[in-house]
Amino acid sequence: MGNSYAIEVEGLHKSYGDIEAVRGIDLKVKIGEIFALLGPNGAGKTTTIEILEGFIEPNAGQVRVLGYDPARHERTYKERIGIVLQETEVEEFLSVEESIQLVRSYYQNPLSIDDVLAATGLTDLRKVRPRKLSGGQKRRLDVAMGLAGNPDLLFLDEPTTGFDPHARRDAWDMLRNLRELGKTVLLTSHYMDEVEHVADRAAVMISGKIVSEGTPQELAHESEPTICFSADKNLTFPKELAADVNQDDDRYELSSPDLVKTLHVLTGWAIENSVELENLSISRGSLDDAFVKLTQSSEEKSED
Ligand code: ATP
Repeated sequence: MGNSYAIEVEGLHKSYGDIEAVRGIDLKVKIGEIFALLGPNGAGKTTTIEILEGFIEPNAGQVRVLGYDPARHERTYKERIGIVLQETEVEEFLSVEESIQLVRSYYQNPLSIDDVLAATGLTDLRKVRPRKLSGGQKRRLDVAMGLAGNPDLLFLDEPTTGFDPHARRDAWDMLRNLRELGKTVLLTSHYMDEVEHVADRAAVMISGKIVSEGTPQELAHESEPTICFSADKNLTFPKELAADVNQDDDRYELSSPDLVKTLHVLTGWAIENSVELENLSISRGSLDDAFVKLTQSSEEKSED
């Protein structure tokens, strides 16, 4: 296994009794990358991450994180990773700065307090007590505490769940700051726009398997492009298009695996029949569309 990867996983399996939570996944995360692990509830994301963190042991497969086998629980490994769970306990009587200092004191080479505060956007809040922080600011304190020990790799579980749009954008800036610091980040998220904004690459996990992997753009393009237009409400489309047309009043949408051919048939038919296609446009699929499609097709397969 090479050393340009922070995480290398091959043939990972984990079962809880009869439940196969992780069913043979391969995964590589490059050093310095922000990587998002996506998937519906119960897909096996937490199980995978807890194996990488060293909390649980796999039944089979090879795992290397920063060159370590997490299952060996080596102290030097624990020093090099930061874990940000969905909720971190903080001492109510300590300020933001003191909370971070406390975590720093456990490590041999912590990140400077100013760097931690700056990366997490907490510089102006350093003297504030945690109970006075908003939900978004509190979450940034959680990340600050994960970052305090100066880890090479940060695990972030759903960094912005429950945030308002403003707080989410602040959190995305923070994630970009982590990249600037050269940290590798493995995050889970249920928000596809978040992944599009911050992740370098992502993998979609469904029923214990990785079903798709790539940059957010590559994943998004797995969903078919859609042709949109407005036209007369009572149109009869040519046979080869009719099944793919969705109509909402005078607005039409046509999804197509072969965009050029579909456009050719559509526009040829429109010219021949003097049909006006108003506001004709093509939209590439979003990551959200691709995710919904992947999860739906996997549900359909499991029902067969
Ligand atoms: P979520 O998005 O809801 O957090 P997830 O993708 O993280 O889901 P996991 O928590 O890894 O999924 O769960 C995968 C499967 O393993 C689920 O069917 C879950 O019920 C099961 N599971 C997880 N932990 C345990 C456990 N300790 N004992 C038994 N079954 C478990």
